[in-house]
Amino acid sequence: DLKIGCGKPRPVKAPTGSQLHCKGWYQEAALRMLCNNLDPDNGENPDELIVYGGLGKAARNWDCFDAIIKTLLDLENNETLLVQSGKPVGVLTTHTAAPRVLIANANIVPHWANWGTFHELDKKGLIMYGQMTAGSWIYIGTQGILQGTYETFAALGQKHFKSDLTGKIVVTAGLGGMGGAQPLSVTMANGVAICIEIDPSRIARRLEKRYLDVEADDLDAAIAMARKAAADRKPLSIGLCANVGDILPAMIQKGFIPDVITDQTSAHDELNGYFPAGLSFKDALTLRKSDPDTYKDMALNAMADHVRAILEMKDKGAIAFDYGNNLRAQAMKKGVDNAMDYPGFVPAYIRDLFCKGEGPFRWAALSGDPKDIKVTDDALMQLFPKKTKMINWLKMAQEKIEHMGLPSRICWLGYGEREKAGKLFNDLVRTGKVKAPIVIGRDHLDCGSVASPFRETEAMKDGSDAVADWALLNCMTNVASGATWVSFHDGGGVGIGYALHAGQVTVADGTDEAEIRVTTVLRNDPGTGIIRHADAGYQTAIDVANEKGVKLPMINM
Ligand code: NAD
Repeated sequence: DLKIGCGKPRPVKAPTGSQLHCKGWYQEAALRMLCNNLDPDNGENPDELIVYGGLGKAARNWDCFDAIIKTLLDLENNETLLVQSGKPVGVLTTHTAAPRVLIANANIVPHWANWGTFHELDKKGLIMYGQMTAGSWIYIGTQGILQGTYETFAALGQKHFKSDLTGKIVVTAGLGGMGGAQPLSVTMANGVAICIEIDPSRIARRLEKRYLDVEADDLDAAIAMARKAAADRKPLSIGLCANVGDILPAMIQKGFIPDVITDQTSAHDELNGYFPAGLSFKDALTLRKSDPDTYKDMALNAMADHVRAILEMKDKGAIAFDYGNNLRAQAMKKGVDNAMDYPGFVPAYIRDLFCKGEGPFRWAALSGDPKDIKVTDDALMQLFPKKTKMINWLKMAQEKIEHMGLPSRICWLGYGEREKAGKLFNDLVRTGKVKAPIVIGRDHLDCGSVASPFRETEAMKDGSDAVADWALLNCMTNVASGATWVSFHDGGGVGIGYALHAGQVTVADGTDEAEIRVTTVLRNDPGTGIIRHADAGYQTAIDVANEKGVKLPMINM
């Protein structure tokens, strides 16, 4: 069905059901999740192998995709496939408890780690941008970021308004793979969102999947709809097809200052991710190809104006925060020296969760049957009956989220909880309560897995923002703990040179061996987050370590 060997773009769907095509479920899971990343329902531009986040790809080219699939079909249960920037480069004999796949994407020696070098290497066919979950085969559609985005807006509401977002208006831009989660997250927190997006097909896609409620014809209509919904205290998300760089100054001129301003265009990539103001969508796409240097310069200048507008809105009373796309650092390149005057979302709203080992735990049902996800949701609610926030989230997710590709779920869980959930899922497979194994993974955006000074590790208490040893330790910990596949990337979220980060995916196939792997990985993976934050001096992380027995040689031993 996958038309392996044709080397051409074509729609790809993950195989489903309980029948194996590979020699074991670990290889089978990798194969299905790679295909799932490119499912037309899931990936933003599957023909180009692009999954999300600007250029974030699942395989280097279609020949590499075919070769990965072929290799996984033949891979023995004591072998490990090596993938270098989306290309399968070798198969080694390891042992049964080792990972079946090891992946490294877009890593460049630090002195040369910038977009210029990346594009040169890309042109020569030597490298691939893996974003976070694109090149590590654990993308689950826009849902993957939904809970994190919802938690962020909920935390913002608590911090600034002492409630949720009822009656408040959020303005943001970008309705791509990740940014598309913003409208639904805001309305889940009972707020009103105006989401500016230049590509009409992205708006159509979010409307179709019910992430976005309505589209406005122009700015005046968007403002009027937003003001009415806020006055009626009704949640509403409004799409506006335009360039954010044209819209924010127009809003200021009209005296419209939202309660909250942020952005999720792919600003981290000035060539492929951001559209300069003043150009039509079509003209911009043409210029991108015909004169990339001029395009990049225009995009960076437009980002500088964009940040100036955000700063002006902040001065006029809006709450401004950066949503993890490196917009501020890009603006600084064009002289906006005070771009960092508004904070990133991690120090503002998420760090405290990281100190408890909480992060984006996610899973997918390899059977392809949505009922299996319902079984896992219900079992999780029974396992943690006192976690009311989690229970509310799961109920809301069941009601509002349409599955994209393989049925899946995201649910932020903390240290200790992830391990219990992993064992529970393995038991559900063992006892036949679900029809096929469950894949458990996470975003690279997690408590112990990233070094990213303008995002996950911005403003660390001890100043260790740029120390990347932690991400490498997390990666090695996951290999040592027996994850099914492990990845290490440069750049995801904020662009080449700005972040190093690791990912793991582990399969619960109902066997005793899987129980050992799943519980070991899901204990140690967030464990590195506790260690990283305790070492940086966060008391919450030290308390969790003391309470849960995480050994810290220079703190509690
Ligand atoms: P994407 O490339 O799929 O979508 C970006 C969207 O922005 C596109 O639809 C594009 O048309 C639109 N856009 C670009 N410039 C615009 C402009 N000037 N005006 C209006 N629309 C414009 O990317 P994505 O997966 O949605 O990710 C968006 C950004 O968020 C990336 O930089 C990504 O790295 C970052 N990110 C953040 C988080 C987080 O947790 N905060 C997580 C993942 C990714």
